[in-house]
Amino acid sequence: MTYPEERAAAAHDLAALGTALTDCRSCPRLVEWREEAARVKRRAFADWDYWARPVPGFGPTDARMLLVGLAPAAHGGNRTGRMFTGDRAGDVLVEALHALGLASRPHSVHRGDGLELRGVRCTAPVHCAPPANKPTPGERDTCRPWLARELELLRPTVRGIVALGAFGWQAVLPVLRAAGWTVPRPRPAFGHGARVLLPHSGDGPELTLHGCYHVSQQNTFTGKLTPAMLREVLGAAAEEAGIPLGRHRK
Ligand code: SF4
Repeated sequence: MTYPEERAAAAHDLAALGTALTDCRSCPRLVEWREEAARVKRRAFADWDYWARPVPGFGPTDARMLLVGLAPAAHGGNRTGRMFTGDRAGDVLVEALHALGLASRPHSVHRGDGLELRGVRCTAPVHCAPPANKPTPGERDTCRPWLARELELLRPTVRGIVALGAFGWQAVLPVLRAAGWTVPRPRPAFGHGARVLLPHSGDGPELTLHGCYHVSQQNTFTGKLTPAMLREVLGAAAEEAGIPLGRHRK
């Protein structure tokens, strides 16, 4: 058994899962990269003591909706130690969640900033920052047990997943299938606004998978993903998952 398989299976709750995860060193290339980023730093963050470890999921342990991104950014989550925190992608996402009443603050700056998410949890299929934001398929597969266990622990409450980008979409489908949800064959294709209803083959709840362009600068700076488009998908997914919106999504 690999370290992620063994330690994820042994975690009895999400806090224990997060603790075990942060000790993971199973991907040599990513361990080197995350630690190198912490040594070299970016000038704007020269006085930061970087996290430089795997970044656990963030949000309530009884979330009804799970956001699945790609991986932490070298100077974002890898610096702050919290998903979607400390970079432009996180700002865009948290602004949208706040506009919908799903986040307590409009910005996500550092772990102690008081941000709380309502009904929503953020995670990633790869928990360490990869060079050029591009994990290899092998690294994705090595990291899979952490996502599988997180989903298993959320199963009593989670009713919707939003995959932010094609990587998250493709990474989460085998996890869902292995956990008993019926994934159509051929696998449904990722697209912004894509929506797939996944019945459970056992006594588990039905779950809806939504596709949304990733909140990367590449997408938001070019207008491929606008704040309105993001709010539309997140708002629809939250309502379908049974999370009442605090504000209107338009
Ligand atoms: S990417 Fe995942 S499996 Fe690889 S070292 Fe980080 S936490 Fe461990």
